[in-house]
Amino acid sequence: MTADDTVLVIGAGQAGVQTAEALRTLGFAGGITILGDEVHAPYHRPPLSKAWLAGEMDAAQLTMRSADVLARKNITLRSGVTVSFIDRAAKTVRLADGSSLPYTGLVLATGATPRSLTLPGASAQGVLALRSRDHASGIAEHMAHCLDQQLGVVVIGGGFIGLEVAATARKKGLAVTVLEAAPRLLGRVLAPVLSDWYAALHRSHGVELVFNAQIAALEVDVAGAVSGVRLADGAVISAGLVVVGIGVSANDQLAAAAGLECDRGMVVDACGRSSDESIVAAGDCTARRLTDGSLLRLESVQNATEQGKSAAAALMGQERPFTATPWFWSDQYDKKLQMAGLSMGADSWAVRGDMAGDINVASFSVFHYRQGRLIAADSVNAGKDHLAVRKLLDAQVSPTPAQLADSSCELAALIKK
Ligand SMILES: Cc1cc2nc3c(=O)[nH]c(=O)nc-3n(C[C@H](O)[C@H](O)[C@H](O)COP(=O)(O)OP(=O)(O)OC[C@H]3O[C@@H](n4cnc5c(N)ncnc54)[C@H](O)[C@@H]3O)c2cc1C
Repeated sequence: MTADDTVLVIGAGQAGVQTAEALRTLGFAGGITILGDEVHAPYHRPPLSKAWLAGEMDAAQLTMRSADVLARKNITLRSGVTVSFIDRAAKTVRLADGSSLPYTGLVLATGATPRSLTLPGASAQGVLALRSRDHASGIAEHMAHCLDQQLGVVVIGGGFIGLEVAATARKKGLAVTVLEAAPRLLGRVLAPVLSDWYAALHRSHGVELVFNAQIAALEVDVAGAVSGVRLADGAVISAGLVVVGIGVSANDQLAAAAGLECDRGMVVDACGRSSDESIVAAGDCTARRLTDGSLLRLESVQNATEQGKSAAAALMGQERPFTATPWFWSDQYDKKLQMAGLSMGADSWAVRGDMAGDINVASFSVFHYRQGRLIAADSVNAGKDHLAVRKLLDAQVSPTPAQLADSSCELAALIKK
């Protein structure tokens, strides 16, 4: 691409900002405009369920890039602007106000939308999902109201976002019940042994956990506000706030309407490329085609950042596949979980550190093996293990379970071997 070209980025989140900045780093001298439908300048999403919701962070700390910082890189940010259509033949995008903008390169970085409940009472006031800064503000307001009125909080869904919200609510002194449809917490991402540990952690902080929960309806008061959750057995858990954390759907509607391949996300290759050479995508809106033909959907800061760099390189005609080991983190109470690799399909594991001891001072890692090979590790308050295991996985080094379980065995030394 040359200085006469124009790149439009749809979505002013982690992936959109990363792609725009990576284009500049790679020497692109043409126009770059980021179009974002939120009114806020790009901000960090992870703190929304953690420090921001707890009131421990200000707006400046939450902001990822202000319009001024982007302008200094010659990147234009247009906030509060929704793209409603992509015309691939004309190489233009149509905005919700009816105007059109031309592009030579287009980046889709539209993120994802929380799944909503389809139950009676689900649209009552005080039934909230968490994806955006505005959602977090709404939840914080309702939490303050619940504290004031001594009302409880129900979290529907024992995944990362639900559990982080539960931990933050407990920190504020709220009574919290988590309703999980499955028999364990974090069932899609953690091995059973860790699900049990997280259940014990939340119980030790006073959270009520209900597994195999079948919800019949949300109870609504005469003013239209939620007052509780009714289970299928007739039991009612009263609540002034219900936070729904039951997963997200990729925002791939624009891509699908433009005739680009979508399958629970816009399908891209390891370089963020679509079937249209002018169009790339990055972040939560994508589904990445792996070499064996399967699709991988990741929702993480690392994925948005790395795919953004790859997508920028692809627009510049360069090959930069994202093949690094996936990693993710979650903060609940004073425990930092750091995950490296994907543990799906693991058939055995080894533990390093003290997982069975006092939960308050826990620091350990669980290493997952499939057919004798190390495929992933989950570390709790064990940052050094996490950094080392990422290097082991990147280098495809697979120490024995005995080596990893031995705390006197230096992990960094295993990489050198
Ligand atoms: C509460 C919360 C906690 C999280 N915690 C962690 C964590 O601890 N660790 C971790 O790794 N990840 C975490 N994540 C996930 C991580 O934040 C996301 O994976 C990452 O933000 C994805 O970035 P993205 O740019 O793809 O999408 P987003 O950040 O969602 O950005 C997409 C943007 O595009 C906008 N948009 C959509 N459609 C249009 C349109 N048609 N026109 C214009 N704009 C549009 C959206 O409104 C949005 O602003 C968390 C997410 C949430 C919500």
